[in-house]
Amino acid sequence: MSLSRREMMMQGAAVAALATGKPFSAFAETPTKTQERRIKWQNWSGGQSCLPEARLAPASAAEVAEIIATSPKPIRPVGTGHSFTALVPTDGTIMSLDRLSGVLETNDETMEATVGAGSKLGDLGAPLEEQGQALINMPDINRQTLAGSISTSTHGTGENFGSLSSYVTGLELVTAAGDTVWCDKDQQADLFQAARVSLGSLGIMTKIRLQNRTPHRINKRTWVVPFDEMMEQADIFAAENRNFEFYYIPFSSMCMGISHNETDEPLAPSIAEDDDGVMTLKALADYLSWSPSLREYFIRSALEDLPDETFTDTSWKVYPSDRNVRFNEMEYHLPRENALAALKEIRTLVEGENIDLFFPWEFRYVKSDDIWLSPFQGRETCSIAIHRYYEEDYKPLFSAVEPILQKHGGRPHWGKLHTYKAPDFATLYPNWNDFLAVRQEMDPDGAFLNDHLREVFGIA
Ligand SMILES: Cc1cc2nc3c(=O)[nH]c(=O)nc-3n(C[C@H](O)[C@H](O)[C@H](O)COP(=O)(O)OP(=O)(O)OC[C@H]3O[C@@H](n4cnc5c(N)ncnc54)[C@H](O)[C@@H]3O)c2cc1C
Repeated sequence: MSLSRREMMMQGAAVAALATGKPFSAFAETPTKTQERRIKWQNWSGGQSCLPEARLAPASAAEVAEIIATSPKPIRPVGTGHSFTALVPTDGTIMSLDRLSGVLETNDETMEATVGAGSKLGDLGAPLEEQGQALINMPDINRQTLAGSISTSTHGTGENFGSLSSYVTGLELVTAAGDTVWCDKDQQADLFQAARVSLGSLGIMTKIRLQNRTPHRINKRTWVVPFDEMMEQADIFAAENRNFEFYYIPFSSMCMGISHNETDEPLAPSIAEDDDGVMTLKALADYLSWSPSLREYFIRSALEDLPDETFTDTSWKVYPSDRNVRFNEMEYHLPRENALAALKEIRTLVEGENIDLFFPWEFRYVKSDDIWLSPFQGRETCSIAIHRYYEEDYKPLFSAVEPILQKHGGRPHWGKLHTYKAPDFATLYPNWNDFLAVRQEMDPDGAFLNDHLREVFGIA
C-alpha cells in the first residue's frame, strides 16, 4: 500500500468547472424567464445548487449597477463556488466578477496592490511578483476568488498571520442603490469594518486593496508524529515555524505536521506526484471498519515508513495544494486555549463509537483581528476542520462532532457547514448588531438576501 504524504494531507477536487457550472452569460445576454432555459449552478462539492433566472458577468462597476437595478432578485455574487454553505443559491440572479480581475495598481512604498475583486488567488502570484510583491499568507488552495475568500474570512495557518480579510486595506463596493463606494480605515470606517467579512450581503465588491510584502521563498516540510506527542508539541511547533499546521489521520494515532519557513536556500521544487492516498484510506475504512485495531495497524505501518518530505519554491507555488477528492466540510474556529482539548474529545468520540470516516482532520493556527464578523475577532484561534466524502451523508458525523466544537466556544467558518443561526451569532460576535445596522442601511430592501442569509441574520 502506498500512501504519499501529499495525498494524505487532505484532498479535494480541483473542479472549478463544477463550481461555476457552465460559462456565465455575457452581460448583454437577455436573462431567460423560462424554467427550461435556466442553467443550473452548483458549488464545488455539489452540496448546494440552484436554478437562477439569470447568470451574469459584468465587466465594469457601471454594468454591476445596471444588473442590480434591472435583474431578478435576490442577486447573489459568486466567486468560484468553493463555499459549502448556501451563501450563493438564488432563484434570482447569480453575478460573477470573473471579468473584473487582475492586478490594477501597486504601490512600492506601502507594498499595497489594488486588484479586481474577481481575481482568483492562483492568478495573482505571478503578476504580483512582477511588481515586486507577494501575498503575506495563503490558504490551502488557490482556486477561490479574492472577493469570495475575504467574504468568508478565508485563512491559512500561522500564529502570526491573520485571515486574508485582515490584509485588506480598502475596497470598492457597488451598493443596492447602484452607487460605487470606496471604504478604508479613514473613509466610511464602519462600512470598512463590516465589509471585510460580509458574506456578499452589503453590495458587490469590484476592487480590493491588499497589504502585501516582498516576494519570498518558502521551504515546506511534512513529517509524521504520534498523536500524543503532537498534543504535547503542537504549540511549540507553532511558535518555532512561520506557518505550522497538522492533520490527524483518524483511526491511526498518527498526525502529520506541516511547516512553512522563509528561506534563502536554492529552489528545489516538489516532484511529488498525486496518488490515491485518500482513496486508500477510504478503501481501508470500507474493508476494515469492523476492526478498528486492524485498520489502525495498517495505517500506522504505512505512515511510519514515510520519510520526511521537504521542498523549496516561491511562496505562491508552495502554499496551495491540489484537492482531487471532493468532500463536504465543517470547520470551527476555537479560542486557542480550548482547541487541543476539543480535538482530543472529538477523537475519543469518533474512535470510541467507531464512527465511520476516513478523511484526515485539519488543525490550524490563526492570529486575531478586529473585523466585526471575523471568526478571529478578538482572540487567538485554532481551527479544526472535519471532512466527509461528497457521496456520503455528512449530517450524522457533523451533528455528532459539532456540539464539541460549540461547547468549546467555536465560531463556524462562514463558508463551511454549520447549524448556528442568528441568536447564536449574536452571542458570539460583540459587533453583531453594528454589522446588522450597516447591512440594513446598505440594503434596506434585501436585494442581496437569499434564504440562507435571512436565517443567518435573523431577517424574516
Ligand atoms: C477544496 C477547498 C479548500 C478550501 N480551503 C480553505 C482554506 O484553506 N481556508 C479557508 O479558510 N477556507 C477554505 N475553503 C473555503 C473557501 O476558501 C471559502 O468558502 C471561500 O469563501 C470560497 O471563495 P469563492 O471564490 O469560491 O467564493 P464563493 O464560495 O463563490 O462565495 C463566497 C461568498 O463570497 C461572496 N462573494 C463572492 N464574490 C463577491 C463579490 N464580488 N462581492 C461581494 N461578495 C462576493 C458570495 O456571495 C459568498 O457569500 C476551501 C474550500 C474548498 C472547496
